[in-house]
Amino acid sequence: IYVGKDMVMMLKTGIALAIAAVPEGLPIVATVALARGMWRMAKRNALIKNLSAVETLGATTVIMTDKTGTQTENRMTVVALRTSENEVDFTSSPDALLAANSPEELAIRIAVLCNDAILLPSGSTEKHIGDPMELALLEVARNAGIDQTEQQARYPEIAKEAFSAQTRMMATFHRDQNTPDNLFVAIKGAPEAVIKNSTGFLENHGPREMDEKARRRWSDLSNDMTQKGLRVLALAMKNAPAVDTPPYQDLILIGLIALLDPPREDVPAAIQACHAAGVRVIMVTGDHIGTARNIAGQVGLCDATASGLEGRMLQATDLTQKTERDRILATPVFARVSPEAKLNLVSLHQQAGAIVAMTGDGVNDAPALKKADIGIAMGKRGTDVAREAADMVLRDDAFPSIVTAMHQGRVIFANIRTFVLYLMSCNLSEILVIGLAVPSGLPLPLLPLQILYLNLVTDVFPAFALGIGEGDRHVMNQPPRDPKTPVLTKQDWGGILFYGALITVGVLGAFAMALHVFNLGDQEALSVSFLTLATAQLLHVFNMRARSSGWIFNDVTRNPFIWIALGICVLLIGLTLYVPELSRLLMIAPPSGTGWLLVIGGSLVPLVIGQAAKIFTKPAKQPVSS
Ligand code: ADP
Ligand code: MG
Repeated sequence: IYVGKDMVMMLKTGIALAIAAVPEGLPIVATVALARGMWRMAKRNALIKNLSAVETLGATTVIMTDKTGTQTENRMTVVALRTSENEVDFTSSPDALLAANSPEELAIRIAVLCNDAILLPSGSTEKHIGDPMELALLEVARNAGIDQTEQQARYPEIAKEAFSAQTRMMATFHRDQNTPDNLFVAIKGAPEAVIKNSTGFLENHGPREMDEKARRRWSDLSNDMTQKGLRVLALAMKNAPAVDTPPYQDLILIGLIALLDPPREDVPAAIQACHAAGVRVIMVTGDHIGTARNIAGQVGLCDATASGLEGRMLQATDLTQKTERDRILATPVFARVSPEAKLNLVSLHQQAGAIVAMTGDGVNDAPALKKADIGIAMGKRGTDVAREAADMVLRDDAFPSIVTAMHQGRVIFANIRTFVLYLMSCNLSEILVIGLAVPSGLPLPLLPLQILYLNLVTDVFPAFALGIGEGDRHVMNQPPRDPKTPVLTKQDWGGILFYGALITVGVLGAFAMALHVFNLGDQEALSVSFLTLATAQLLHVFNMRARSSGWIFNDVTRNPFIWIALGICVLLIGLTLYVPELSRLLMIAPPSGTGWLLVIGGSLVPLVIGQAAKIFTKPAKQPVSS
């Protein structure tokens, strides 16, 4: 107004500029980008329960994963049975007949009675019911001629002590026709727990007392099997006068049974991907330390010499001491971990600055799942409580799905950063074009409605396309983003200024030349500046490629949505030229040949200089070498 422009006109321009300054496309594009990311993850078996989890996934630095079913197949087979004086190898003779009334036969009978699973008759098309480990026990029993239904009929179950993660044991009470005054109790559980509670063990000719020497011998037998990566269960029995007898006292140990649960084939590659991405993987399992270490070694989670800790040591160490804390933080394998210890472990890592993703399946895992930055529940194996507490549910329970989700999380974050950069630099250019033209004595290069048209109609499509792209191929070769850095870093703000200025130079250059070099007239010059800005913004999309990518084949040019968006935008800009009502409204007319040359020249400025700048400046972050 001070330099003599029309007041109403300047008011309208001011309003239009205000609109240009606010990236109103942002919330829509951000939501769509996140939602599409969720959808993509869902297709790959990772269900995200809240949008913000997508972002956190990209910043995850530590994954705490359980073993059974996540790292392993959770398809178990019994490989061996060890009694005091005998060893049965089921791998070489799967239907080994067990001598009647031998400790071996008794052990298998206990495994069948103390069992919640149901193995359907062979040939049945329906799925067996229950835990794979218990099903494996029933299977080996059936092959040995011990049938579940028959056993249950002969020794009806009248009470049960369910398996608990605290005791790591389970017991069932049975009636026996031969001894009506006495109940038979069948117990199975983690070897340490059962051995500790045993006061006797069975030999071929009868029971013996469990003294310290015998205890050590049984522990050694069990440890030998766990070293091979086998999951070991101890089987025990006792007689009880009534169902309210404590089930886990004075047990008679009958035998140890070893199960094989091979690691999933796709886990080693996924763990390698984590390491390349600068993400630590820590195994946290309820299983035995020997089994855990062996499986961890097999999948490449740590090398064979790496240390492991048992959950109870977590409680025992003095966490106020830094050396002790560091020792725990550096440990890759935790075994026999209780749900409370899980929670403590998450806190400890979080205090050390980590963003922790944690898997869980049991009811007791809920607090740890909530505490973790990303709680991951198992869709197949998990309880409803765990799923409720989690941020993400894995439909296939598989570790590689976590890695896929993490990849997507990173892509989405990078995409959001990219389209914010894009939208903001476009908006800035609109402000600069007008803000600089007015004081330098040029007529208004853009009219309010033109700004609105660009800002509301054309900008949004390329931004959308950037928001839903597949992303840079190298995202998983970089360390995780520091969660403390904002969405736009200093460097990004620099980029916004730089690109905004480039577009401004192109537009004002074309506009000034149209007016003063080629004397095209105000009306045509106005069309030239509008078209230059519109085209420059479209071409500017190609500046948004990842730094590490090639300048012809890159994440932007590979993204089909970019080409669709550009097509739509060209159409929309074409409409302004050739639909008379719209042309009149926006005050635009198709320029002459000279005008078009100016448009092309001006709009190439940001693209050409932008790409050159990318080549001559160093990438901000070097990919980590793995
Ligand atoms: P994870 O699933 O991480 O291997 P769990 O907490 O489920 O660990 O099991 C811990 C230990 O408890 C197992 O290694 C096994 O010895 C024992 N265990 C697991 N399930 C049962 C069960 N149904 N009956 C008896 N003992 C079990
Ligand atoms: Mg389990």
